[in-house]
Amino acid sequence: MAVERTLSIIKPDATRRNITGAITAQLEEAGLRVVAQKRLRIDRAQAEQFYAVHRDRAFFDDLCDFMTSGPIVVQVLEGDNAISRNRDVMGATNPANAKEGTIRKEFGESVEANSVHGSDAPETAAAEIAFFFSGTDIVG
Ligand code: ADP
Ligand code: MG
Repeated sequence: MAVERTLSIIKPDATRRNITGAITAQLEEAGLRVVAQKRLRIDRAQAEQFYAVHRDRAFFDDLCDFMTSGPIVVQVLEGDNAISRNRDVMGATNPANAKEGTIRKEFGESVEANSVHGSDAPETAAAEIAFFFSGTDIVG
């Protein structure tokens, strides 16, 4: 198995409910290690840039509103197959479709306010990590 790094975001619905620790505990229980972390607020331009791949989708404006509505916690997660491992523990995009035991099943409020983001491929993981962190921020 390959050791990978992936970007995780704990979204504003979760920081609002003070469940960042509960979510991080699930990530750690899944074998993922937090090797960088910070809490911040992103502005509209940053949200639009981060989610640019979705700019033509009907939910894009609402998604950018939501992601700028409160603080987020961004994390670099490291572990064997970290990208797919994180996607597995996150669960399906829509919490209503997420499997038992996943973060989105337990904590997600709606298809938009679904508590966590996770990179979906090695290329996006590298780009998304670089969006928030420099190399010296990451301590493996
Ligand atoms: P994922 O986060 O599972 O990779 P996507 O990349 O498809 O899902 O979508 C990015 C984010 O946009 C989702 O996590 C969710 O917050 C929001 N989103 C996706 N689909 C919808 C939708 N149909 N309605 C509202 N928001 C959505
Ligand atoms: Mg996605």
